[in-house]
Amino acid sequence: MDTIASSAILNDGIIDGRLAARMVRKDVKQDVLSLRAEGIHPRVAFIRVGDDPASEVYVGAKVKACGWVGIRSEHVHLPDGTTQEELAGVINELNDDKETDAVLIQLPLPDSVGTKAALNLINPLKDVDGFHPTNLGGLLAGHGPLEPCTPSGVMRLIEMMGLNLVGKHAVVVGRSVIVGRPLAAMLARAHATVTLCHRHTANLKDHVRQADVLVVATGVTGLIRGDWIKPGAYVFDVGITRCEDGKLRGDVRFDEALERAAGITPVPGGVGPMTIARLLENTVRCARLVRGLQEPSIHRA
Ligand code: NDP
Repeated sequence: MDTIASSAILNDGIIDGRLAARMVRKDVKQDVLSLRAEGIHPRVAFIRVGDDPASEVYVGAKVKACGWVGIRSEHVHLPDGTTQEELAGVINELNDDKETDAVLIQLPLPDSVGTKAALNLINPLKDVDGFHPTNLGGLLAGHGPLEPCTPSGVMRLIEMMGLNLVGKHAVVVGRSVIVGRPLAAMLARAHATVTLCHRHTANLKDHVRQADVLVVATGVTGLIRGDWIKPGAYVFDVGITRCEDGKLRGDVRFDEALERAAGITPVPGGVGPMTIARLLENTVRCARLVRGLQEPSIHRA
């Protein structure tokens, strides 16, 4: 890739998502202070249904991060077996609650409740994860007011590293509604030429080999081999899987890939912290949106 990225967050080929997230949080904290001076204290509600251990950890991390920047948070934990109607009741209550600015449903939901139906019920102005069709549509139409946190976290890393995407070939592996598809739209918006791969893609490695920027979000540990990486490419590994040895691993074979890539995000410590940082930014944005206030001064990639 001819664009040389130089930034505090790129060290020896490793893209430091934790440092990048700290930099974003600093700005969010400042923004929360300004809002509080206007009598507004942002508050987000996290709804978790059932006892998925990973979801418990993720919500815990989000609650903690809110505390770091002065955002109020509430963890609404509903038992396994919660019905669609009961979940709808909780979402509607939070939609109506004047004290709640943002609502997040921690995924995955148990089979007893429909994910799409639940997400569609959230007031789009409080949709901090940006998964409501109104917000996803806004993203396709240009800049949505609230964009999904993981893809926008990747875009923010790219921007913080000073990577110029114009005319570059970006390959995204994984086409979920929460990561791959919105990210493909964001990369195209930044003038990259985008290839979106999935389970049915023929000759995946041939596509990956052409990537100046590669983003992988499949949940298949070690899917991408190091010798598939184009020398000098930038690699963003979204996948997180807890393996049998208890370690978290990504979708890219990190050590092999590091030998060829100009930059790669580690797992953990890469895209994950940026996802949470973007969530904090979106919470502040919701606090303004629900009050009909101007777009915040904080950054959007
Ligand atoms: P989904 O299961 O919803 O989507 C996975 C995607 O990967 C699908 O599009 C699927 O293709 C594709 N895929 C699966 N296997 C292959 C394969 N062998 N070759 C090519 N494509 C394949 O997952 P999510 O998008 O929700 O999450 C993906 C990963 O990212 C997970 O590990 C998840 O934990 C992690 N994640 C991390 C976040 C973070 O903050 N770091 C946030 C969100 C997710 P098809 O559509 O054809 O089925």
